[in-house]
Amino acid sequence: MSDIHSTTIRTLSRCICIITGASKGFGRALAHQVSHYMKPGSVLLLVARTRTLLQELKEELQSFTGNQSLVVHCVTADLSTRDGVNETVSAARQQSSNEIDHVLLINNAASLGNISPFTNFTNLDQVNSYLSFNVSSPLALTAGILQVFPPRAGLRWSVVNCSSIFAVQTMPSWVLYCTGKSARVMMFRVLAAEEPNVKVLSYSPGPLDTEMQKDILRLTGIRNNVFPCKESAAKLMKVLLDDEFTSGSHLDFFQL
Ligand code: NAP
Repeated sequence: MSDIHSTTIRTLSRCICIITGASKGFGRALAHQVSHYMKPGSVLLLVARTRTLLQELKEELQSFTGNQSLVVHCVTADLSTRDGVNETVSAARQQSSNEIDHVLLINNAASLGNISPFTNFTNLDQVNSYLSFNVSSPLALTAGILQVFPPRAGLRWSVVNCSSIFAVQTMPSWVLYCTGKSARVMMFRVLAAEEPNVKVLSYSPGPLDTEMQKDILRLTGIRNNVFPCKESAAKLMKVLLDDEFTSGSHLDFFQL
């Protein structure tokens, strides 16, 4: 792995960064990474359902980085609901008067969903509920944040979609997860094609040591060789700092 600390002269500028699913797992590791590269006056919005974990993370970030000028806000929101998406957009809007050079939105929150043969998915409500959280919610959230901070020349704008190998590779009985991840990649490719002032990246973080992997083991018996979230988050951070990726591209942990 390349040395992330060799990039310390580069930063995320004076940034507003919104991370969904920040309370645990990969999102939490990303919050730590991002906080090291934000210039004074930056704002970090941590979004998830579990208030206590977000609050604990906020305290960690402010004590570990020693970056007292970094403003951290916890947004306790259920992104599977309209209210949760709206509250997150409102929390971003409250920061819109701040002078910022960079908007960074990391669509990380997602769920595994039911793992079951294709023919079992006869319940439209169950399918809609999965796609609502995993596809519709990041679309509506990203659109809302784009309205709050309209892209323009001179304002750096980056969107990360946390993807998966299963966006591009089939897996029997994983129709919900594969469909959701694949749809997200196309959704963000459309954004990249539409908005020349927005850099869009789909990043597949590799198998990670998180609750989602525990669920995979419990539901399927599959035990993957996992990597620490910190390692994958550092690779993503290097890609963002280098800022050399093609907008709309899909990058995988194992390629970097
Ligand atoms: P995780 O351990 O299950 O964590 C998911 C995060 O999303 C948590 O912070 C959770 O917080 C939040 N979340 C879940 N439902 C939510 C909701 N309705 N509203 C708001 N927040 C919600 O997942 P992870 O393993 O870190 O995965 C992170 C991303 O990487 C996902 O997009 C996943 O698909 C992708 N990925 C993971 C792996 C892997 O091996 N783990 C591999 C490839 C890709 P609360 O419970 O507090 O809401």
